[in-house]
Amino acid sequence: MHILSKSTYIKGLQCEKALYMTKKHPYLRDRLSIEQRAKFQRGTDVGILAQQYFPGGVNMTPNSPSQFPRRVKETMEKLHNPDINVMYEAVFQHNDTLIMVDILVRDGDQWKAIEVKSSLKLSTTYYNDAALQYYVLHGCGVPLSDFQLMYLNAGYVKQGPIDVRQLFQLVSAMDYAREQEATIAANVERLKQVVALPHAPQVVVGPHCNDPYPCDFRGHCWRNIPQEDPNVPYSIDFKALFAQAPDPKPRRIAYLNPLFYRPAVPELDGTRPYQEMMLAFALSGDQEPNGNTLWDCFDDHSRWQEGLDVMEARLRYYDLVVTFTPNEHLGYKVFNLSEVLQNAEMFHPLLKDGFSLQHTAAAVFHDLKLFEHSRIIVEALTQDLLSYEQAKKDLIAENEVVKSIYQHFFK
Ligand code: SF4
Repeated sequence: MHILSKSTYIKGLQCEKALYMTKKHPYLRDRLSIEQRAKFQRGTDVGILAQQYFPGGVNMTPNSPSQFPRRVKETMEKLHNPDINVMYEAVFQHNDTLIMVDILVRDGDQWKAIEVKSSLKLSTTYYNDAALQYYVLHGCGVPLSDFQLMYLNAGYVKQGPIDVRQLFQLVSAMDYAREQEATIAANVERLKQVVALPHAPQVVVGPHCNDPYPCDFRGHCWRNIPQEDPNVPYSIDFKALFAQAPDPKPRRIAYLNPLFYRPAVPELDGTRPYQEMMLAFALSGDQEPNGNTLWDCFDDHSRWQEGLDVMEARLRYYDLVVTFTPNEHLGYKVFNLSEVLQNAEMFHPLLKDGFSLQHTAAAVFHDLKLFEHSRIIVEALTQDLLSYEQAKKDLIAENEVVKSIYQHFFK
C-alpha cells in the first residue's frame, strides 16, 4: 500500500503535523464545511468536463481505496495496449507514492499527462502537484512527451453548448517538473520519515494553518488557543468616520444585501468562466412591503439581469443605499459600510484577516455567535447543500446586520 498521495504530499509540504495526523489520526479531522464541500464538488465537475477535451478515454477511477493496487497493475498493462489512447485517472505508484493522473493521452511513442485545475490562474502549489506526478511517472518509467496543466480560459464566452477546446487552456509544466525532480525526491523521503514517527511532530500553529489551504486539523490544534475575545473594545477614528457621514442627512435609506454567483463553467450564453451574476437581493426600507423585499432567481439563473432592473427600479425612491457588498450596478447613492469603516481605521482582533460582515458585527456588538449562521455560500446552494428557504432567511438576516451596524454609528 502507498504512504503518500498527491493530497498528502501537498499537505505535508504545508505542515508535517497535518500529514502525520491525516495518516495516523484521521478521526480528529474537522468536519468539512459547506464551503469546502462545494469547492471540492466544483473541482470534480470541472475535471469531468475536461475529459471531453480528450474524448473516448478509459476511466481507471477505483471504486474504493482497496482497488488501488489492482488499478496500478491495470494502468501499466493499458499503457502497452495500442488500442488505448486516452486514460482518465490512471493510477501509478513509485517509492510508496501513489498518484492518479487526471488525463493521460498517447502521443506517438510517448504519453502526455494533464492535470486539470478549476481556476483562472495557476499557483505554485499547482506546479508542485504537477512536479510530484512527473516524479512518480518518471519513476514508473512512463515515457512522457509533456506534462501540462489545464485551466479555465478567462476570455471564453459561452455561445451555445460548451466548447471545451475554448473553455480550457493548456500550459506545460514539464520544465518546472524536471527542475524539481531532486527536490521532490528529497521531500518524499522526508515526508515518509514523518509518517513513520512514533508521535506527531511538534508544530506550533501559525499562518501556515491556512496557507495554501485551510488545514482540517485546526479544530484539534487550535482548541487550547484562546479565541479572539469579542468583548475587547474596537478602536476607530471617529473624526474620520463622521467625516464620511452622508451629507445632507438622507431621509430615505435603503439597506441592500445582494447575492452574487460566479460559476466556474459558464451556464448561460454570453457569460464567461466565473462571471458574476446576481442571484438574489434583500432590500430593507420604508417603501418595501412589510419593510423588506426579497428578489431571487435561484431556480432560473437566466433571470439574473432582470434582478438588476428590479433592484434599480426599487432603489430610485431612496436617497442612500447602505450595503456591505458594493458592486458596479449600484450607482452613486451607495454607502459602502465596509469601506467607510476601513477608512476610519476601525480595528479589532477579529478583523485582522479582513472586514467580513460577521466579524465586523461581532466586534461592534460584542457577540461572536449573533450572526454566525448568516454566511451564504452560493455554490452550496446550487449543489443542494443549502436550501433556498434557508438562503433567503440568511439574506434577510444579513441585511438586518448591515442596518444595525449603520444605525449604530450614524443614528
Ligand atoms: S492546524 Fe496548523 S499546526 Fe495543526 S496540523 Fe494543521 S497546519 Fe499543522
